[in-house]
Amino acid sequence: MATNTLRPAILVVSDTASQDPSSDRVSDTLGAVFSTQGPTWQQPITKIVPDNALDIQRAVCDWTDGPNWVNLILLSGGTGFAVKDITPEAVSPLIHRQAPGLVHGMLAASLKVTPFAMMSRPVAGVRDKTLIITLPGSPKGAKENLDAIIKLLPHACTQAADVTSSRALHAGGIKKLEADAGISSASPQTSSQAGHIHDHSHHHHSHDHHHHHGHGHVVPKAHTAPSERPQSNDPNAGPNRRYRESPYPMLPVDEALKVISQYTPDPVIIEAPVSTALVGSILAEDVYAGEAVPAYRASIVDGYAVIASESPDSGPSTKGIFPVASITHANPGGTLAPLEPGTIARITTGAPLPPNANAVVMVEDTVLASSTPDGQEEATIEILTADIKPLENVREPGSDIALGSRILQKGDLITSVGGEIGLLAATGTPTVKVYKKPCVGVLSTGDELVEHNDPSKLHGGQIRDSNRPSLLSCLSSWGFPTVDLGIARDTPVGELERSLRNALRGVGHSTTSVDVIITTGGVSMGELDLLKPTIERSLGGTIHFGRVSMKPGKPTTFATVPFKPSGSSSPSNVQQERQTKLIFSLPGNPASALVTLNLFVLPSLHKFMGMAQKHPTTDVSTPPVALGLPLIAVCLTHGFPRDSKRTDYHRAVVTASRTDGRLYASSTGLEGVGQRSSRVGSLASANALVVISPGVGKLEKGMLVQALMMGAVVPGE
Ligand code: AMP
Ligand code: MG
Repeated sequence: MATNTLRPAILVVSDTASQDPSSDRVSDTLGAVFSTQGPTWQQPITKIVPDNALDIQRAVCDWTDGPNWVNLILLSGGTGFAVKDITPEAVSPLIHRQAPGLVHGMLAASLKVTPFAMMSRPVAGVRDKTLIITLPGSPKGAKENLDAIIKLLPHACTQAADVTSSRALHAGGIKKLEADAGISSASPQTSSQAGHIHDHSHHHHSHDHHHHHGHGHVVPKAHTAPSERPQSNDPNAGPNRRYRESPYPMLPVDEALKVISQYTPDPVIIEAPVSTALVGSILAEDVYAGEAVPAYRASIVDGYAVIASESPDSGPSTKGIFPVASITHANPGGTLAPLEPGTIARITTGAPLPPNANAVVMVEDTVLASSTPDGQEEATIEILTADIKPLENVREPGSDIALGSRILQKGDLITSVGGEIGLLAATGTPTVKVYKKPCVGVLSTGDELVEHNDPSKLHGGQIRDSNRPSLLSCLSSWGFPTVDLGIARDTPVGELERSLRNALRGVGHSTTSVDVIITTGGVSMGELDLLKPTIERSLGGTIHFGRVSMKPGKPTTFATVPFKPSGSSSPSNVQQERQTKLIFSLPGNPASALVTLNLFVLPSLHKFMGMAQKHPTTDVSTPPVALGLPLIAVCLTHGFPRDSKRTDYHRAVVTASRTDGRLYASSTGLEGVGQRSSRVGSLASANALVVISPGVGKLEKGMLVQALMMGAVVPGE
């Protein structure tokens, strides 16, 4: 049926095969099944990983989440009951939509061959656009299972990839689908086909169903959909069922940043009046001068407007005594009388020259020759120089900014220095198109939290909510509009979900719907760490990563949530379709929260506000615009410890030496608790994060290392 070739991938999960790839026979066996299907499938790509949940998840996500996603992932192995069999557990949390029908079909088919089919725990479902199915580890079992469903997979994969709407696919009715797939519910099955094909409208009509619903049969439980089983990220499952190791893949920082950039929506263009509120915005268009500056021929000095000639021979000299015919000030007064030859006009800085005048003599080059009879005014003036040239001391119309010239470019930042606003103001530009700055909501989570300004004395395990004020002030200093979303308690269940939904909709604490939600707390491994299950299960969101290989900040979590603005209250609003909202769930520890805000949230906000839209440069040597904190090289003033596995973002003060012109970094706290992630003080006075790559020993005094600048460099010794 498929005219496009579908891309399959095979992931062999086996400790043995991962050590000795030549022992793998599954890849070839399954590859052969695909080749029997005509041009529908490409040759599968294959990979072998050991029986390790993280390796499995990494491999699956590589094939589902990136630009090189495949249509189908078949995992083989690790589905049995042995302790090391964890493939279903590794795959389940990655699945967005379960496909129990495929599980059912495979089990039904292999049960016809052997009761040992009961010893397999298959999982099937869709992640993003990819269908994922686990198969047994034995080549024979894997082939039997695949044979049972292969005819249906093109249909399932095409739907999952959303190439055609499901309605169009079903247009010919179920009979046509069956005919396309070369199968039929009425005709006898060949041995390689599923014993049970579901009619889309009728269930439970096959004799096979006896297997699944008891009646003395031996297969009563194996066919519950995985979604019906208590999963360990189910908050209702209780602490004895929770994961003992985080099931989320641990990404290196660079990869986490790539994922964030990939899912951050493109910026939205708005038209805004020219005002100080524009500061910090990125222009979404080139701006051309609608007015010339100056708009008239203006004097640069205080003095006398004259009619100057090119050379002394070509006309009368400016040297001599002249009557003062008129006076012109820098004011918007009416029309000026033309200057008669042989007369001059007194003029002030910035004032328009009278018609005929073409230069200005500075007042310093003149003396008073005579006064008016009342003694109040100048009657005649003596000009002491003959060297005044035409256009001397005048600004021609448009000489500062020509009418219609480009004054600013798409991608330019409107800085707080004032230069860009000045240009826009001088040319009378009324509005400009800029990218909308994202609105960021900040939510604290935890039963233990108390408002920082609550006057009562703390008791028991209470702590003051320091993350919210600290994150909100950091975000405001970056110029983003913020919404304080308050505190969401861990109990009662449902409070967190309600807070998140309100923030997305723009009700409750938040009167505007936020584009990005930042939460802190609730992402560790405790049973009240509800963020991940709430995002996935209640909000239908997708967690793109749940751990990052860094220190501090390991549990940093990034998710997207689909959101449909309710109602059509603003018909003029162009953005009525589904939007993607971002959720950054940062660790609760204050230092971790602030470090991860700088490291992960800022680059996303920068992309959101159009920073990556910088106008293309013709100079290929110019590096692409770097989003997030600026990275510079600094010299260490003392040894810095290293972590053996994770990249350390060490809080430090970077100073600029007054004597040798170099930048130096010193830790904000080394001994014992110094850099502990709960220590708020490690960030007070810190202006930089020194990036320390993992390794043994320490970085020595005097070494040059990279630092991410959070604040301004301060003067040092
Ligand atoms: P959690 O991930 O919720 O277990 O939080 C980790 C640690 O951070 C715990 O010690 C929390 O008490 C602390 N924490 C969580 N939220 C905040 C906050 N808003 N302000 C200060 N500390 C917090
Ligand atoms: Mg908590």
